[in-house]
Amino acid sequence: MNESCLIKPLLNGRYPSVEYGQGIYLYDSDGKKYIDGSSGAVTAGIGHGVKEIAAVMKEQAEKVSFVYRSQFTNKPAEQLALKLKQWAPGNVNWSFFVNSGSEATETAMKVAIQYWQEKKRPGKTKILSRWMSYHGITIGALSMSGHVERRARFVPLLEDFPTVEPPYCYRCSFNNNFPECHLLCADQLDRAIRRIGSDHIAAFIAEPIIGASGAALVPPPGYYEQIKEICLSHDILFIADEVMTGIGRCGKKFAIDHWQAVPDIIAAGKGMSAGYAPIAATIISDEVMEPIQNGSKLIMSGHTYSANPQSAAIALAVLKYIENHGLISNAAEKGNELLQKLNQLKQNYPLIGDVRGMGMLTGVEFVANRGTKQPFSRVINVTKLIIDKSMEKGLLVYPASSGIEGTAGDAVIIAPPLTVRSEEIAELVTVFEEAVKEVQAELLL
Ligand code: PLP
Repeated sequence: MNESCLIKPLLNGRYPSVEYGQGIYLYDSDGKKYIDGSSGAVTAGIGHGVKEIAAVMKEQAEKVSFVYRSQFTNKPAEQLALKLKQWAPGNVNWSFFVNSGSEATETAMKVAIQYWQEKKRPGKTKILSRWMSYHGITIGALSMSGHVERRARFVPLLEDFPTVEPPYCYRCSFNNNFPECHLLCADQLDRAIRRIGSDHIAAFIAEPIIGASGAALVPPPGYYEQIKEICLSHDILFIADEVMTGIGRCGKKFAIDHWQAVPDIIAAGKGMSAGYAPIAATIISDEVMEPIQNGSKLIMSGHTYSANPQSAAIALAVLKYIENHGLISNAAEKGNELLQKLNQLKQNYPLIGDVRGMGMLTGVEFVANRGTKQPFSRVINVTKLIIDKSMEKGLLVYPASSGIEGTAGDAVIIAPPLTVRSEEIAELVTVFEEAVKEVQAELLL
């Protein structure tokens, strides 16, 4: 495959070329079969090769694929906005469509800043966030991200938005345990706001369950209730970045639904179209939209492809597919099965330090010493060893890392499509076990 002009294969020539997908499986051009144990980048929520979606694609393309949003509205985008309004909690009712998760969080940031400008408080421009977070790759989204590795080479261009410790109970930054800790990690937001001054802060952004930088870190009960209360008491908006966790992935429509804390703005992406089209959304509450509608009227952002009917029709079909096939309850139920099986593996393999997750978003963290939780040196790159070994055996899992030496272990996310069946989970875990066993032996544990 050296004739390719695609940058990644040219750089290391290592990636197989995919031929087709069916359900939770992918097949490469040599006929090798892979279990898609991570839904790609936690995206392919309804599995691969779904005929109903292909039919909608064709039908919409034959009608009209693209219109410019300042010239026309269109039915698929209107219906998709309505569906998201039904799905989102509270009064989070208004959808602004973009093309990627990064654009969704970056738009959320801009909307929060605009909201305070309309309210005649233009000094409120900072967005606070947590260390160990990933909100996207564009400069604004990366500014909000506490993913040290991904920030590293752009630091001079980035804002210092991450300020608070993550709710990482396995390695509590405060050397404490829940519930005795009284949620010191949430309390840190209050301190950060007091130090910086709420007059400078527009919003706090958080992934309800930390994904790419932490491998499915689930905060304890009460965490987001406390976060929401802190935000309210300081006049700060709460943005839930549901790009990875939303659209049924965590066993509810949005992961934040597991807590009593309605966000002011939600960023959704990935599972929203399950990979069938590039589309994402910034979903905004009535309260945040009101001063914008009464003031500038327009959200000061937008992209050429925003709200194009082709992507909107596909996302709408995906949401209906999720509803019609009961995939959210399947994610909750089968997610428990997966978590149980991974916990059983943990008993037998000292390489596994922690297993965690919610719904169909699970994480496995690897340690050099389970007793002390000592992580491996990043030079060894156990995450890569596990990913490569799994792939060799026909299983795809997704890397997760904080990028800070010594603060966290290597980890992978296991998050198959929400359609996954019990026998497929058993097959996935069997292959994963073989990979863990071999890597553990190579590391002489
Ligand atoms: N937010 C979260 C929580 C993510 O996990 C990601 C991607 O992994 C993003 C934002 C960025 O999304 P995208 O890669 O579609 O730009």
